[in-house]
Amino acid sequence: APDAPPAYLTGLNPPQRAAVEATEGPVLVLAGAGTGKTRVLITRLAHLIVTRRAQPWQILAVTFTNRAAREMRERVANLIGPVAQDIWLGTFHALAARLLRRHAELVGLKSSFTILDTDDQLRLLKQILQANSVDEKRWPAKLLLGTIERWKDRGLTPEKLKLDDGGELAGGRLVDLYRQYQERLKVLNTCDFGDLLLHMVTIFQQHPDVLAEYHRKFKYILVDEYQDTNVVQYLWLRLLAQQSKNICCVGDDDQSIYAWRGAEIDNILKFDKDFPDAKVIRLEQNYRSTAPILAAAGHLIAHNEGRLGKTLWTDQTGGAPVKVRGVWDGSEEAREIGDEIEALQRDGQSLGDMAILVRAGFQTREFEERLLTLGVPYRVIGGLRFYERAEVRDAVAYLRLIAQPDDDLAFERIVNTPRRGIGDVALQTLHRAARAANLSLTLAAYDVVTTDELKPAARKAVSRFLADFDRWRQLAQGLSVAELTEQVLDDSGYTAMWQADKSPEAPGRLENLKELVRAVEEFETLPAFLEHVSLVTERAEESGQAQVTLMTLHAAKGLEFDTVFLPGWEEGVFPNQRSLDETGARGLEEERRLAYVGLTRARQRAYVFHAANRRIHNQWQSLLPSRFITELPGDQIDLSAATGLAGAYRRPTVETYGGASFGGSSYGGGETNAERWAARRAAPSRGPVIEGKAARLVSGSAPKFTVGERVFHQKFGSGVVEAADGDKLQVAFEAAGIKHVMAAFIEKM
Ligand code: ATP
Ligand code: MG
Repeated sequence: APDAPPAYLTGLNPPQRAAVEATEGPVLVLAGAGTGKTRVLITRLAHLIVTRRAQPWQILAVTFTNRAAREMRERVANLIGPVAQDIWLGTFHALAARLLRRHAELVGLKSSFTILDTDDQLRLLKQILQANSVDEKRWPAKLLLGTIERWKDRGLTPEKLKLDDGGELAGGRLVDLYRQYQERLKVLNTCDFGDLLLHMVTIFQQHPDVLAEYHRKFKYILVDEYQDTNVVQYLWLRLLAQQSKNICCVGDDDQSIYAWRGAEIDNILKFDKDFPDAKVIRLEQNYRSTAPILAAAGHLIAHNEGRLGKTLWTDQTGGAPVKVRGVWDGSEEAREIGDEIEALQRDGQSLGDMAILVRAGFQTREFEERLLTLGVPYRVIGGLRFYERAEVRDAVAYLRLIAQPDDDLAFERIVNTPRRGIGDVALQTLHRAARAANLSLTLAAYDVVTTDELKPAARKAVSRFLADFDRWRQLAQGLSVAELTEQVLDDSGYTAMWQADKSPEAPGRLENLKELVRAVEEFETLPAFLEHVSLVTERAEESGQAQVTLMTLHAAKGLEFDTVFLPGWEEGVFPNQRSLDETGARGLEEERRLAYVGLTRARQRAYVFHAANRRIHNQWQSLLPSRFITELPGDQIDLSAATGLAGAYRRPTVETYGGASFGGSSYGGGETNAERWAARRAAPSRGPVIEGKAARLVSGSAPKFTVGERVFHQKFGSGVVEAADGDKLQVAFEAAGIKHVMAAFIEKM
């Protein structure tokens, strides 16, 4: 039939289809997890191109991560073919970087500008603090940089701030230091992440002709995960969409999890004020998760206030309840999860469909070790892991300095690595010369070596260093980027330095350098590779083999897995201690949204784990199950697994619980987790049992034991203390043998 809808539209439900076909004017799709928001965006991209409303390069599509961008591009290509390649699709940062290269001179940069990472940012700011005699003990660079970054997130250049907007920070001088920092960046022909968007907003605001050019170019704008945009991203979008008003944003206020990085949940709440006549479309059918998982997530998030509120339903029937498991400590947690992964695998589940989602990056380590032991392939996603390693950063610094002789931070990083006799004194001389002539270190060095300012040996070393780079810059014209990289690492003595190194890490570092060369092979030009390095926030998959995914909850946004493991649901861990210490519920509500994001990643199976003990700040602490566990609906979760561990789990508590405090060796609170959980649910009138600081658990109150003393442990029975290390004891039990136990969990006999 002539009016049958094209194939790509047929799978959609009516509101989804309406969201795809409402091409003109502002559209906000506001809907819960797994309702097909991202799918709507992908279909909309296809629709705009297939119906010839726009050429691919006239569409700007923004995603939250590079990986999401890659995936979206693939999925659009599946619908419409390789023209998808030409869509302007990427993260805010990647897109802004691409635009800024075209107009860099308008903000005083060259188009070859580099992008700094956090380390370099800090180093630069520290130099400025020193030059201004700011007491770094009082005002750590990290803290000040954080404030500067929040200003940038809010679109505030130094010019837009009042001199005293920094309050007491850095002795009341922070705005001025911020200005100096920005000036230094310009001299170095570089910018930081925040600048990418900030500069583009400045350019659009100050150069209407440039903005008009993009009004003509970008006919349609699409934005995923709109709930996590910050002010500067919002300003940038609004400027670009001003003319056509063809902007389609999709998001979920319940999944706003980046307030700590400046995201403004208000952006989504006030969309229809900024874009009058905006069409707001709600999607309510969830296609991702089973009913018990949806019910658990819905029940949990209902504890937040100030939500827009949404209905979510699924027509899927059946599905296993969310499993909640209590374990003794982190290593048991890792063992349990490892075992479960292997069991699922034996059942025919693919590792690629399983994920372990942690609250904080450092938490992956224990699972990594366990999976390594089991020989279960895994990947860690999130963070600049590979490119953060020192040797990789050194190698990249060589490449940066080849591409961009003015890159002083790269210069400093490797000028004497490996050692070539250019010490601190020589470097100070170069710095002085650079400052005096307002030149970069490289340029200043060319001058300095023609004078007698350096000692002869240093002068010779600097000359050789400059000559090496001259030669490599020549070579860069003829060689592939990978060949160049290899040659530079060899010629410079950098590889040899690690070959000569006898430390146990050296082989791994050499492996990393090899891996870097492999990474470089994928790039045609050096600048393209360097840009990639600045922008990658995720490590690419290493192989085609199915792997378990480890990542933070933050990084998991937008993704889905058949099986999701959610470890570490304990008070003070998740929700984290900071959110508990805060007055008001903002932080706690953001933690709860994060828990909601975690649960809603699961298609078939979700497991929540909580450990009774963890080593926190190098001290063993006993922990309460997260309040989020008590906020799950009792009839949709399975606690039997927790009671299955009752033997190990039944223990004395060292915690403030239900208003009553139990001492270190008291058995007053020796309930099983299931009993405790049931008690807490049965007594809502007691209000939330754990509140704020009261939830912070004491660990110092355990009684002291001495070597040779006879003790009793609930699970292991009686024994003799063999060694004591703080609150950790080694005890020889009569029946159970030698064990390491926590002082808090044994009694004097
Ligand atoms: P999140 O809020 O987590 O980002 P989302 O709203 O973006 O979720 P999608 O990732 O687009 O949701 O979709 C979730 C799952 O549901 C995907 O596997 C998707 O393919 C599937 N899906 C979406 N719409 C439909 C539909 N109409 N029919 C069948 N499956 C669908
Ligand atoms: Mg999505």
